[in-house]
Amino acid sequence: MIYLDNAATTKPYKESLEIFNKINAERYFNPSASYSVGFDLYKDIENVKKDFISFLDGEENDKIVFTSGATESNNLAIFGSSFNKQKKYLFSMGEHPSVYNCACELKNKGYNVDFIPLQRNGEIDYAIFEQMCNEEVCFISVMFVNNETGAINNLQKISEIISQNTNSCVFHVDAVQGFGKINFSVSDCNINLCSISAHKIGGIKGVGALYISNKTRLKNVNFGGNQEYGLRSGTVNAAAIFSFYEAAKISLNNLKNNLLYVQDLKTYLIKNLETKLDNYVKVVSSLDSSPYITSLIFSGNRGETIMRYLSSKEIMISTGSACSSSKVGNRIIESMGYDKNKVMGAIRVSFSPLTTKEEIDKFISAILEYKEKINT
Ligand code: PMP
Repeated sequence: MIYLDNAATTKPYKESLEIFNKINAERYFNPSASYSVGFDLYKDIENVKKDFISFLDGEENDKIVFTSGATESNNLAIFGSSFNKQKKYLFSMGEHPSVYNCACELKNKGYNVDFIPLQRNGEIDYAIFEQMCNEEVCFISVMFVNNETGAINNLQKISEIISQNTNSCVFHVDAVQGFGKINFSVSDCNINLCSISAHKIGGIKGVGALYISNKTRLKNVNFGGNQEYGLRSGTVNAAAIFSFYEAAKISLNNLKNNLLYVQDLKTYLIKNLETKLDNYVKVVSSLDSSPYITSLIFSGNRGETIMRYLSSKEIMISTGSACSSSKVGNRIIESMGYDKNKVMGAIRVSFSPLTTKEEIDKFISAILEYKEKINT
């Protein structure tokens, strides 16, 4: 099997799985318990939090709340920041459904919500964003790396626009497709809230985190035993947290080499597509997008048909975000100005450090084969 859907999820590192089993077998205690083994576990998790804060380049008194994944982190960030219906809440049009649908829900609840348009390259339109920013705006959510196109938003530039045009505005970043893959700093970009997830970087599914800067006011959105500073009630999942920690350390230690490696793969893919399939395929992702993700459009075709054909050849790709693969059209690529009919032919190919050039060759051969079959 050739797995080219790493933006949907990655194969867990052996080390992540081993530590998950080890903690569950040997340190299965409740970290909120006051007896020694429970409290020891609590202290170890506190140290893991300190390391996550430094992974993100935060400050000592910032917080990390572990969650069940980035969907929960995004929900907590958005609904936990919704205090005032008179103020304005801005979201980019490129957001993952776990942000976009929260924005729609806020709007349904009577909050003042607006969406920032995208440029042709998939990044937000900074000039329009600047016009939208004023003292009325109290919350802005813009993702770091887009999960469908790989477009990288310039967080530094966004942060400057926010500080020049707003008063006390919360800046939330969904960094799921960037953390452990492309360097960024919450401090340099004045990020208040940042969502990350383990299963996109060789961790297990069902664990993520929300980074909360010490300057940020956040309310709880679930109710229970008041674990995690009262922000996330429920028994803390120690095994999942240590497993996430392991995956984060491995990813960050290899970040530079992995980035160079996948950049080479993406260049190789695009060069081959251009020489062998020119006029048949349009590369949507811009040259400076994340090397981990390439979005392609096969005009006059349906992405879903290509995906099924490749699947029958044991090559796994996606037609867009897997979380929304049942939907019609593609909000993100359409927001970049592509025609609705063309967008039907979109697929996403996403790499990991385990992907090889031979696998890319096989992917291209399978597309050539598909083209022959369809055109005869
Ligand atoms: N945000 C982005 C950008 C994503 O790619 C994903 C996963 N598809 C999520 C949020 C949701 O993450 P999780 O699966 O951990 O809930």
